[in-house]
Amino acid sequence: MRIFDPHIHMTSRTTDDYEAMYDSGVRALVEPAFWLGQPRSNVGSFVDYFDSLIGWERFRAAQFGIRHHSTIALNPKEANDRRLHEVMEILPRYLAKDGVVAVGETGYDSMTPEEDTILEQHLALAIEFELPALVHTPHRDKAPGTQRTLDVVLASGLPAERVLVDHLNETTVDIVADSGAWMGFSIYPDTKMDEQRVVAIMQRIGLDRIIVNSAADWGRSDPLKTAKTGHAMLAAGFSGDDVDRVLWRNPVDFYGQSGRLDLTPVPGFEPARQGPDTFEGNSVLRGMASRREA
Ligand SMILES: [Zn+2]
Repeated sequence: MRIFDPHIHMTSRTTDDYEAMYDSGVRALVEPAFWLGQPRSNVGSFVDYFDSLIGWERFRAAQFGIRHHSTIALNPKEANDRRLHEVMEILPRYLAKDGVVAVGETGYDSMTPEEDTILEQHLALAIEFELPALVHTPHRDKAPGTQRTLDVVLASGLPAERVLVDHLNETTVDIVADSGAWMGFSIYPDTKMDEQRVVAIMQRIGLDRIIVNSAADWGRSDPLKTAKTGHAMLAAGFSGDDVDRVLWRNPVDFYGQSGRLDLTPVPGFEPARQGPDTFEGNSVLRGMASRREA
């Protein structure tokens, strides 16, 4: 199985995670700029963070055979700190870089006027730099929040096919499906969305524009949720080609619109291989299977 994890915060993860991800089939990923938990107090913190996303973390991933890309933005939560609006002025210099494949994560956190302003500026940058946009949905007021997000995004003039709306669930997926934007599902151990639920959504609406990610970060999360979703798809009767479409071709099609994906194998590592056969060689998933049989 070959896997492209389109949303994972490797800055918060360990080398064990990189090794286990490689073992499960991950050969490329996208790390969106996000909220680090501890609020930042000045623009310099963002300069260093963005530099580490396009520099150090890219280098670290390659040491484990994984191609690393990033998306750059001022996240919606910190958009509410006016001291940080200066961050918007440094974004153009990062959006021009090779490994940066989208503007994001942007969107709404609490749907404040500050978030409106910053979201509109991000969308204008996506148009200016001819990049896709990664837009996340608010945690509260999920359905109305998603509708408002889509209204603002599509009014900006950014074509729907260049927009990925993330963290969807059963209450928000249909609005996004109808809009023509890509649908992102973050698979977590015990919140938001799990493997079985996303497979049920796939059975209902098909695999067009469906993207699955682990969104693993500094909270309770699992960087192998992409592989585990592939396994759940097979168990539900989807083919190896279906799994390849969701875990590799769909995210590659979406982020490929940037013209900046590097999917060449890292020298010294095995190329990504399509097909469900490698599932059986994977110790994590073998463990899952034997637990199920027991
Ligand atoms: Zn995230």
